[in-house]
Amino acid sequence: MKEKLLERLVRYTAVSTPSDRVLAETRKPSTECQWDLLRQLEKEMRDMGLARVELTGDGFLFGRLDPSPGCERAPSVGFMAHVDTASDAPGLGVVPRVHDNYDGNPIKLGGGTVLSPEDFPALLKYRGDTIVTSSGDTLLGADDKAGIAEILTMAEYFLSHPEATHGPLEFIFTPDEETGCGMDGFPLDKLESKLCYTVDGGDEGEVEEECYYAWGAEVSFTGRAIHPGKARGKLVNAASMAASFAVMLPRSESPEATDGRFGNFWVHHIEGTIESARLTLFLRDFDREGMDRRLAALEAFAAATEAAFPGGRVQVETKKQYLNMKEGIAAEPRLIDFLVASLEEEGVVPLRTPIRGGTDGSRLTEMGIPTPNIYTGGHNFHSRTEWIPLSAMESCLRVLVNLVSRWARAN
Ligand SMILES: [Zn+2]
Repeated sequence: MKEKLLERLVRYTAVSTPSDRVLAETRKPSTECQWDLLRQLEKEMRDMGLARVELTGDGFLFGRLDPSPGCERAPSVGFMAHVDTASDAPGLGVVPRVHDNYDGNPIKLGGGTVLSPEDFPALLKYRGDTIVTSSGDTLLGADDKAGIAEILTMAEYFLSHPEATHGPLEFIFTPDEETGCGMDGFPLDKLESKLCYTVDGGDEGEVEEECYYAWGAEVSFTGRAIHPGKARGKLVNAASMAASFAVMLPRSESPEATDGRFGNFWVHHIEGTIESARLTLFLRDFDREGMDRRLAALEAFAAATEAAFPGGRVQVETKKQYLNMKEGIAAEPRLIDFLVASLEEEGVVPLRTPIRGGTDGSRLTEMGIPTPNIYTGGHNFHSRTEWIPLSAMESCLRVLVNLVSRWARAN
């Protein structure tokens, strides 16, 4: 199945599918190019012989594999991946490159991009392996086309090995994951599974069952403009208020100063004039109480800013983005128990790390479908130095097959 994985990864990454954060708020999928891959996958799933293949008008693609005889009572399990790529690095005109028998030296790509073990020591674990990169001018898009390749190769494995029994399986490919709006309008009524996994993680062995609590905040500042010659004691500068508010956010609790289980305040956008200014920020925390403390802090900073700028007004509006999926996933312990057992049986060391971000799985978990995340094997996502070793894709495939056979025996 190794050749199949590689062939699929190369074929899918060659279809460029960057999504667009701004357009995603009004259009689904946000970019036309995502349809190219969705339609190609739809045809591939039909040709393969999957059941009830359906592509919705919003770009959600479903396909199913009916259970083997005797496994009809096993729970239906969904496997999900996204078709879009991030807009943080150039994503159009992707030309995947396959480096056979990697020798452990720096890989010189185009556009001056160098993939070197000095910067990325994980490369040395994969000496002798086949490494896939971009041309160096764009990202690769193994995030998450490796996930799609792994899921469909797993489907193909079960179709061609009737002796390998499985319960009902469902495959779901979604648009716009990278925009954070990927699950808006997800047709939950079409989903036949009550349990899912996303295949969208990084390093070999990664199991992700926990993510941030995430809130967004819009802070608006209203000042008062007066001719600067007569401004003393009268002018209230909204731009200065916004700057003063931003400085109150603890620098030690910024994304650039935190890792592991520490949350943060993330200033994303600031703009303004004397009369009005606006600050967009994101709040991240692994604990619910921690998030409440951050939300309360914004109100306190707003009051402090008003006190420092008499006559000025500060308004804080907050909005939930996604919730930590930990609790939802804990409600079905077999999701992680089976996955960890499969990893161990396939000789892969489980790396259980909290995600410093969210996934479509966190949104799906909120909708009542607990959905942890499984590794794809890729590295350096969202960058020109994105790379993936073929052996990690292969181990992911073995883990998926093992996992499905465990669920086939459950009821
Ligand atoms: Zn992804």
